[in-house]
Amino acid sequence: MLSMSTLLPDPSYLDWFCWEEVSNGLYLIRERFFEAGKRINIWLLQGSQRDLVIDTGLGLRNLPNYLVSVGLIGHKPVLAVVTNIRFDHSGGLHHFGRVAVHRAEANALMRGDNFETATCLYDWEVKRPPHRGWRAKNFKVHSVAPDRILDDGDIINLGNRQLTVLHMPGHSRGSICLHDQENRILFSGDVVYNGTLIDWLPSSDVSDYVQSCKRLMTLVDKNLVIKVLPGHFDTFDAERLYNLASNYVANAGVCHKMMSSVARYIASITLWWKNYGR
Ligand SMILES: [Zn+2]
Repeated sequence: MLSMSTLLPDPSYLDWFCWEEVSNGLYLIRERFFEAGKRINIWLLQGSQRDLVIDTGLGLRNLPNYLVSVGLIGHKPVLAVVTNIRFDHSGGLHHFGRVAVHRAEANALMRGDNFETATCLYDWEVKRPPHRGWRAKNFKVHSVAPDRILDDGDIINLGNRQLTVLHMPGHSRGSICLHDQENRILFSGDVVYNGTLIDWLPSSDVSDYVQSCKRLMTLVDKNLVIKVLPGHFDTFDAERLYNLASNYVANAGVCHKMMSSVARYIASITLWWKNYGR
């Protein structure tokens, strides 16, 4: 349920976001002035009993207020879930009244741990600053206490639609996909998208990523997915899902693990310095 504080008028959000209807009750929302590969796809799934927002963006503007103002939510309880707690997904969580996250990342979210959220934003990536004098270096993910802790196999029930939580660590320790089994749709978050998969951030793990990709390949083998709605970039089909997952598995040898370790070491030093070193 939305709190009253999140419903206060703030017209500045109106042109910050844009939305399009993907299919009946399914919407894609984007942050118009965040122009970078890090910009996520925010998915809104309307259910008969409750609505679900999958990932929340940076949070520079109030997303639930926007969704209410354009008539996409407001009559039912709303749950916001993040597919991982990286800052581009979790930055907007604090605007929502009800929040869900995988168990493995719940403590980091509650701490507002901007090392584990891999917070790294630059001025040039935000084409319209939220206010005069805003600087990206001051951007932080707020600490949020989740209402619901998710585990593998849990069901998020929207009434007429059910989503199964699939714990898919690798990109981060608490990465999840959400599987709409009836419609064979997979919300894949950062586990897989049409681009280079990232396995070199804090809590990333190549071996876990391989297992998660094998699980994705099994979903395709069993014909349980026909469409993938990822956390970044364009949607794709089961064949592309299989190719992306199998390519990762094929390339995740010793050399790749060494390079990933070096990159994670450098990224960790950079993130620590950026968030806590000054
Ligand atoms: Zn992401």
